[in-house]
Amino acid sequence: MQAFQPEEVIVERGSETTSIYRNLREKLPHVPFKIVDGVANGDSDFSARGFGTAKKKLVLTRHKGEFLKKCPGSDGQVCCNYFVINFASNCPMDCSYCYLQEYLAENPALKVFSNVDDLLIEAAKLLSKHRAFFFRIGTGEITDSLALDPYIGFTREVVPFFAEQPNALLELKTKSDCVDGLLDLDPKDRIVVSWSMNPQRVIDLDEHGTASCAERLRAARRCQEAGYRLGFHFDPMVEYPDWEQDYEEMLEQTFATVDWRRISWLSMGVLRNTPGLKRTMRDRFPSTRLLTGEQVLCPDGKLRYFQPLRVEMYRKMLGWIRRAAPTVKVYLCMESKEVWEQVFGFAPGCEKELGIQLANFGF
Ligand code: SF4
Repeated sequence: MQAFQPEEVIVERGSETTSIYRNLREKLPHVPFKIVDGVANGDSDFSARGFGTAKKKLVLTRHKGEFLKKCPGSDGQVCCNYFVINFASNCPMDCSYCYLQEYLAENPALKVFSNVDDLLIEAAKLLSKHRAFFFRIGTGEITDSLALDPYIGFTREVVPFFAEQPNALLELKTKSDCVDGLLDLDPKDRIVVSWSMNPQRVIDLDEHGTASCAERLRAARRCQEAGYRLGFHFDPMVEYPDWEQDYEEMLEQTFATVDWRRISWLSMGVLRNTPGLKRTMRDRFPSTRLLTGEQVLCPDGKLRYFQPLRVEMYRKMLGWIRRAAPTVKVYLCMESKEVWEQVFGFAPGCEKELGIQLANFGF
């Protein structure tokens, strides 16, 4: 995978004393750095210049609100009771279907938050206050968990902290192969490194700047050998002629590369759009074929394939998964109870139940 190199790093004054700044300086010696008094107006500049342009410069700033939030899920869909840490905003890669194009349209600057110490204090307070609750926490909600790690070294600050927490699992979700910084840390079975997966044909057409399928699997294997738990998200699944062959082969490659007993969870979800996101995709990626398939508007305002097609896709995937990994935990992302029942023969009673099932992998 070609490593991302920002054209410029814009640093909000006050962030020059942080470890993230020092890491950036050390790893990007040829990139110009500019210290500014505030980045409050930066977003309108970035948004005027376009979403793709905003990804080329990196902004280092303090995060002023809370770092940890409950994943918003999607109205009326089964939720998996997940928490998110926003350590950065936007992503250096550029998938044509990325929902951030709509979600961050007014706020597109590629930002990394420098005050990781505040993040760790907030997390320690929350986890110690609710020791009876088991938290699944991810960092890949509005960015990729690892794509910037070679420059910012964020995981070297948070992995040792979360490895010591008795009531949390930290998930690092990525489409990159940037795992070098993880390999000499001890995850103590508390860290899940996970990959969003698609066949190479989908990656070539619609996952611009990401690692290839083979690179993602090689990185997963290296993490497994270093003691990490693994996760895979087959999401967004895309329907096209021959999709079955491509997805079945991808699953065979996955289970031939990693030990499925080290997989904490797999998820499946089909392509989701909104009318607004489709307009943006048409502008930014006019030749994508993701705009051509039929989709229906669901009660949560998202467009998805017709329900019978979704159920068929999930059932086929589940059959291929079960053939290789008979008891691995599989769940659906942002799907209704009816779809759960048709695919698995049951639906979780409540979000808490699904969260507990996913967290409980043998402690
Ligand atoms: S890797 Fe994820 S966050 Fe980055 S552009 Fe692709 S979908 Fe968006």
